[in-house]
Amino acid sequence: MTNDQQRVALVTGGSRGIGRAIALSLGTAGTKVAVNYLAREDAAQEVVEAIKSQGGEALAFQGDVTSTEDVEALIKGVENAWGAIDVLVNNAGTIKDSLLIRMSVEDFDNVVALNLRGTFLCTRLVLRDMLRTRWGRVVNIGSVVGIAGNVGQSNYAASKAAVIGFTKSVAKEVASRNITVNCVAPGYVTTDIVEDLPQELKGKILERIHMRRFGSVQEVADLVSFLVRDEAAYITGQVIAVDGGLSLGG
Ligand code: NDP
Repeated sequence: MTNDQQRVALVTGGSRGIGRAIALSLGTAGTKVAVNYLAREDAAQEVVEAIKSQGGEALAFQGDVTSTEDVEALIKGVENAWGAIDVLVNNAGTIKDSLLIRMSVEDFDNVVALNLRGTFLCTRLVLRDMLRTRWGRVVNIGSVVGIAGNVGQSNYAASKAAVIGFTKSVAKEVASRNITVNCVAPGYVTTDIVEDLPQELKGKILERIHMRRFGSVQEVADLVSFLVRDEAAYITGQVIAVDGGLSLGG
């Protein structure tokens, strides 16, 4: 493989938010992009059309990444369309916030299932392709909450901290095969959730962000786009925050 043109990427949860920005960035840079989604086929198709309108190649693939059967079918579907997967972005994720004493077992399990089990299931299968071709890039989307914790997010923080441990362990297992595994940890990024927060709370959050602004989905996508390139070959097992200095504290 000599350039990014021929590469095949799978972006889980590529239909909306950060995943959408990542899919668009990779697609417009010439990578073939499999845009995975759970329910919003319209949103996934919009991403596919946007990539195609820029001269790129993309396809939408439905699949629940918490299901072993769905993940097997998803990866087989991408391989049947384009061959081996070179780039995996484990982006699909969710929150179900509440203080621990009020947290239901269901809300704990659902968050861990998507954020951790989904990452495990996809990575395990896609690595077979990468080990065969002796080249690969895995980027796991974590969160600064997985580094520092957050009130009301013990389930989410635990799942994202686990993704960090997973990233470092798998990075060690596959480094000798030219496969890198990294974790990108966004802070507060302007998506629907952040935009809908009460003005007062937004102000309080901004006081903790040294750059005094929220991040954009594009700023996360730009880092992911770099990490999957040949130029990032010597970066593995790292957790890189994109958070305007939030995780520095102080
Ligand atoms: P969104 O809620 O905007 O989008 C979620 C995406 O995941 C959608 O494409 C959705 O598909 C897909 N999805 C949901 N459940 C499943 C499933 N079971 N299987 C497959 N796909 C699924 O997410 P964000 O852009 O906000 O977050 C993306 C990632 O970034 C997450 O890992 C999140 O934890 C992380 N993050 C986000 C931050 C933020 O400020 N937004 C901050 C820090 C980290 P569909 O469209 O079909 O519903």
